[in-house]
Amino acid sequence: MAQIGTDIQKASSLLQQGELVAIPTETVYGLAGNALDVDVVAKIFAVKNRPEFDPLIVHVSSLRDAEKYVVDIPKKAERLTKLFWPGPLTLVLKKKNEIIPALVTAGLDTVGIRCPDHPLTRMLLSVLSFPLAAPSANPFGYVSPTSPQHVNAQLGDKIPYILDGGNCPVGIESTIIGFENETPIVYRMGGLSIERIENVIGNVEVRAHSTSNPITPGQLKSHYAPSKKLILGNLDELLQQYPAHSSGILTFSKNYHSPYQRILSPGGNLEEAARNLFQYLRDFDQMPIDVILAELLPEAGLGRAINDRLVRASAG
Ligand code: AMP
Ligand code: MG
Repeated sequence: MAQIGTDIQKASSLLQQGELVAIPTETVYGLAGNALDVDVVAKIFAVKNRPEFDPLIVHVSSLRDAEKYVVDIPKKAERLTKLFWPGPLTLVLKKKNEIIPALVTAGLDTVGIRCPDHPLTRMLLSVLSFPLAAPSANPFGYVSPTSPQHVNAQLGDKIPYILDGGNCPVGIESTIIGFENETPIVYRMGGLSIERIENVIGNVEVRAHSTSNPITPGQLKSHYAPSKKLILGNLDELLQQYPAHSSGILTFSKNYHSPYQRILSPGGNLEEAARNLFQYLRDFDQMPIDVILAELLPEAGLGRAINDRLVRASAG
């Protein structure tokens, strides 16, 4: 198992030696390594069992830092960074090819770049002389980790150290936005709501549900899946089809008084629901049940990103 601790010195010296370290962010835990070292990046893909056509997000300490790795930053992107960086927003921008290895970006001429908002990781980035490539610290296709224990359970025998930043306060992955001919395109819904983005830059095109012809695996249909079959629908109807004693129940706020239920937010708060989502999906893997029955949340704010994860989990 990996060592779990809060020693930034240790994390930075391991990273400088070309090792991988799991890092806390406000979204989910990342499996981090030197983004500028192709051997380290190859190790990230190997540890996650991630196909090389799935590009990694590069984590930087500031907009200033990001400017070193991209050709230019569109006005709208800059306005977003002013308001939402550090935070759960990844920008897909034209990259400087000579600096960021092709493996990081799966051969694309763009790079996904983000400034994470977690005090330990911010401190870590500030002492490092390179940016961190960091996909979610889970085996490819599985639910993302939101605590050090989640990382240790799945990747603990493959990495030396997990930087312990507690539970992730946002709990779902970053929102990914890029620009095609100046039009903002959302490639993945996430911890920053579409509404908040549109308040700043106007209408965006959401392409995150395009499952028939995925550009990138963040858009693959079956992704973010727990090990048990997840069935989405009207819970009252589903409970007439599936026996309550062998079914997990995932609700937004309704209480079904089942020992195998998880209520994402009893008070109906979408931020709280996002924070609990991945822990609860993992909980079902430990229960003596055959299926997980779940309902969609309101299609607004973080509800859209949560629904996106539920739809994909149900396709697994
Ligand atoms: P993860 O780091 O595991 O949350 O996944 C990263 C996701 O970011 C990928 O699966 C892609 O969907 C997306 N991504 C990263 N880089 C790019 C890029 N250059 N263009 C489009 N999407 C990207
Ligand atoms: Mg991931």
